[in-house]
Amino acid sequence: MAGIYIHIPFCRKRCSYCDFHFSTTFSNYREELISAINREIELRKYELKESIETIYFGGGTPSLLTEEELSSILETIRNLFPINQEVEITLEVNPEDVNLETITYWKILGVNRISIGLQSFKESDLKWMNRAHDLEQGFEAVNLLKKQGFENISVDLIYGLPGLTLLEWEQHLKQVIALNIQHISAYCLTVEKRTALNHFVKTGKLKTPSEDIQSEQFNLMLRVLNQNGFFQYEISNFAKPVYESKHNSSYWQNKPYLGVGPSAHSFDGKTRRWNISNNTNYYKNVGTNESWFEMEILSKNDQWNELFLTGLRTIFGVSKTSLSELGKLSSSEIKTMGSLKEQGELVETENAYILTEKGRLKADGIAASFFRI
Ligand code: SF4
Repeated sequence: MAGIYIHIPFCRKRCSYCDFHFSTTFSNYREELISAINREIELRKYELKESIETIYFGGGTPSLLTEEELSSILETIRNLFPINQEVEITLEVNPEDVNLETITYWKILGVNRISIGLQSFKESDLKWMNRAHDLEQGFEAVNLLKKQGFENISVDLIYGLPGLTLLEWEQHLKQVIALNIQHISAYCLTVEKRTALNHFVKTGKLKTPSEDIQSEQFNLMLRVLNQNGFFQYEISNFAKPVYESKHNSSYWQNKPYLGVGPSAHSFDGKTRRWNISNNTNYYKNVGTNESWFEMEILSKNDQWNELFLTGLRTIFGVSKTSLSELGKLSSSEIKTMGSLKEQGELVETENAYILTEKGRLKADGIAASFFRI
């Protein structure tokens, strides 16, 4: 199984907390950029040998793609790779782009999973976040998607926001549950260096909550979502049964994927590679076949560390088969496993080492205790 990720580096506005790669001034080169994405897919057609099970349009704002643009990329992929019949095609969308016309062509082109960025159910949050939509648009978008037959919808939310009380967060969770969607991705706000939010925090305009408050909100989320039929299959991801994101799950299970577009990452089991995060240089270099990416070959230790870092965040755990291909647990690692089990933080099955809900609260720290240098 393999997946393709396509990074669409266009956004309508600059959200104040976001440090992803995107541009808000792309109109004079969007054609060149889409052509370069198609060309990159063509140039890399030999890199994936398995059939494609997932295609994921992320960004940026892929819902800004016109019908022709989206269609051309999907056509390129369909022409070059064997596609699994059950392929999951996800499109990240923002509420302001959802309307009858866009929904119609998304469906015709085969998009069968929508990931929509609502982020908060508080109007004042959407304002300081500089989101391009308001609360009403968010609700309308989800309802329209459902009415038009989308049955696999994921909503993105952020907690740990300035001034967000536990009670308000509980209300946000109830509101997202009431939307009757299939999947929720909820991330804790982080203040990234080169963002407006960083400036707001530094100048005292906004105050981020303490780690304790953020943990309380995380724990509340686990409880409320669990009680309402969403199971946590990765630290920040919750799904109703069978609606886990196949694409993201394959990242966490170290499966190969091809990432195309500026700043996109690729992985083939032993090598990681990442495209340059500059739109103009990207499309020019792809066009002239000059290098538009960097890569690193992962050492055995790197692969070992990644298995723990990604596996322990998920309900799939760290695969024993994958570990055995890289080496054996040392006696001190076996001892650490033992004490994690005693503390109720880890379980060992026939095939994997899996953190319990309690263990997942400190997954990164636990993973680090198995790192090899
Ligand atoms: S959060 Fe999404 S829409 Fe906002 S700037 Fe970042 S990528 Fe663009």
